[in-house]
Amino acid sequence: MKEAKKRYTKAELKAELEAAGVRATVQRIAILGFMRENPVHPTADVVYDALCEEFGSLSLTTVYNTLKLLVEHGLISMLTIDDVFRCFDGNVAMHAHFMCKECKKIFDMEMPREVAEFAQTMDGFKVDEVQLYVKGICKNCNIDKR
Ligand code: ZN
Ligand code: MN
Repeated sequence: MKEAKKRYTKAELKAELEAAGVRATVQRIAILGFMRENPVHPTADVVYDALCEEFGSLSLTTVYNTLKLLVEHGLISMLTIDDVFRCFDGNVAMHAHFMCKECKKIFDMEMPREVAEFAQTMDGFKVDEVQLYVKGICKNCNIDKR
């Protein structure tokens, strides 16, 4: 699932933050922009490394807290597929994930429609999020083993 990289304007990002009820600061706009344009499941450290040069005053704590804030408001999601590193996903369209145990890369997979529908079948329950985690060895790492 590789798509052409879309660029987001500051105005678009600001509008998205405000629509979700989040006050749009320069740093929040930059962090949301990075997440939207890099849906490669970065950890907070990766986001920090990418933006710290542009924002001298940025701290890792601010990045982490901002990511958590964006998750709370449904603008990005948090993946717990890796039990050591929390990573984040700027693509909030419903999809599943595959983590390679060798290279630790996380790949997007299609979410089976049956899973998404099954989650909605509990009467009276409101589903906010469905995660499906698949683990194994990716195609690249598996080449040596065939
Ligand atoms: Zn791999
Ligand atoms: Mn993803």
